[in-house]
Amino acid sequence: MSSLPIIDPRTGETTGQIETTPVETIRERQARAREAQTAWMDLPLADRKTAVAALHQGFLAQADAIAEALLEDCGRPAGEAWTAEIVANHELFGWWLGHIDDLLTATPVDLNPINYPGKTGRVRLAPKGVVGLITPWNLPVAIPLRTIIPAVLAGNAVVWKPSEHAPRTAELLAKLFAAHLPEGLIQPVIGAADQGAAVVTAGVDIVFFTGSVATGRKVQVMAAEQGIPCTLELGGKDAAVVLADADINRAADGITWAAYAFAGQNCAAVERCYVHNSVLSAFIEAAKTRTKRLRQGEDVGPLVTEAQLRTVQRHVEDAMQRGATVVCGADAGGPGFYYAPTLLTHVPEDALVLNEETFGPVLPVVGFDALEDLPDLVNRTAYGLTTSIWTSDVELGEALSEQFDCGVVTINNHSFSGALASAAWGGTKDTGHGVTNSRFALYEMTRPRTIIADRSRQREMWWYPYNDALLKVTQGLVEVSRSGGNRLPALGQVVAGLVRRWKE
Ligand code: NAD
Repeated sequence: MSSLPIIDPRTGETTGQIETTPVETIRERQARAREAQTAWMDLPLADRKTAVAALHQGFLAQADAIAEALLEDCGRPAGEAWTAEIVANHELFGWWLGHIDDLLTATPVDLNPINYPGKTGRVRLAPKGVVGLITPWNLPVAIPLRTIIPAVLAGNAVVWKPSEHAPRTAELLAKLFAAHLPEGLIQPVIGAADQGAAVVTAGVDIVFFTGSVATGRKVQVMAAEQGIPCTLELGGKDAAVVLADADINRAADGITWAAYAFAGQNCAAVERCYVHNSVLSAFIEAAKTRTKRLRQGEDVGPLVTEAQLRTVQRHVEDAMQRGATVVCGADAGGPGFYYAPTLLTHVPEDALVLNEETFGPVLPVVGFDALEDLPDLVNRTAYGLTTSIWTSDVELGEALSEQFDCGVVTINNHSFSGALASAAWGGTKDTGHGVTNSRFALYEMTRPRTIIADRSRQREMWWYPYNDALLKVTQGLVEVSRSGGNRLPALGQVVAGLVRRWKE
């Protein structure tokens, strides 16, 4: 049995070991999931809902334990654990349980009774089968649940590889799944890259991956080799844009929160802030006051890994070497992997911190002059997750939103919409091509199955023999609809042709 160290990011100390799943057993786990799935998808939806509702209650009963695990795994402040991982997921369960009947209701096929007499049809959403799910550590409850809840309601099983950096949280969730869902339906796989790769090649029907661009690319190649689809929810470099007419206090409150929450380890963290030059100093002053009053541990947790801390330090040092001004922060005083919330100004365009994903509590602020400059500024990175516009002119914000190449635009707010179960979440460019939340996520984990029934006793017009009568009907139909076509003789031709076909 091999194992991985458990490291407490608050101290940097190794506090234990987690046993990893032997790679050679992962195909067998996929087979067990498939066996469970076959019976599960045959259950009436009401029965599947009953099980998921019990899981929901189990989740609520374990809320304190989950918050504690998040603190131990990620140093997550209680305020963030309870809002983003408990209350938001409580709502997630409620939304899917409340809407799944409608979302899975078959839709009728439009069948013109003249062309298609006696036929009825419907399209229903059938489960894909076994879903492979690979998730990161930054939201180790919400990200898996956003896929697992709709996937199982739709009749799928899941082979789930949680992040090796959130082992206690993963263990708690795995116990909840085992207690409330049929045996084998969710197969947790514990480990790191080797186990993740083995999930992709274990015979699953689709892979849902959330994580870094580098790993996402590898997953996509492996999935292509298996001939299976994958959805990728990758990194971000979100911009917030503050217009001259913005409420500066609200903008500073919202943007500093969105930059520093989860210690910046949020795919939709504000990582760049463009402020109109007429309000730049007022905004910096307001952001500075808010940044300086944040408390280490209570408001801002640590980076989760030492490697992440090094990336943050590298980005800030690079900005400083290129002439950026540190308004406050830029301090990794410790203990563990804490990094002080950092506000930067005078950051040159080519600084790493304005181009690559930092994934840390760093807010670079840059001035701009003209609205026309915004599309180039916002769209210049390789990522496209979310963008926010802060303005008192909501109509102007909505008009500008069309110019940004990203999956989500928010006006006078940032990042929270990932928690909205009914709003599609996904990005463009290097951020990937996955969708979580909403009916669009359900479409990714199901396949449309069309069923057409024919009660007609007539031979079809398009069947053999191919003869002159068939051509009369088809060419007559085109002539009737062609603009400038002579309708009356064409209609006569259609009717005559049909009569001959029926008599054949
Ligand atoms: P990561 O890519 O290092 O790891 C993600 C998962 O992939 C982990 O479970 C890991 O064990 C597994 N993995 C690693 N190598 C693998 C391989 N070769 N094959 C298969 N699986 C492998 O990412 P991370 O550091 O855990 O997460 C942070 C990243 O996730 C950031 O870039 C962040 O922006 C992104 N993210 C994106 C979204 C979104 O919705 N777009 C949400 C959250 C996080």
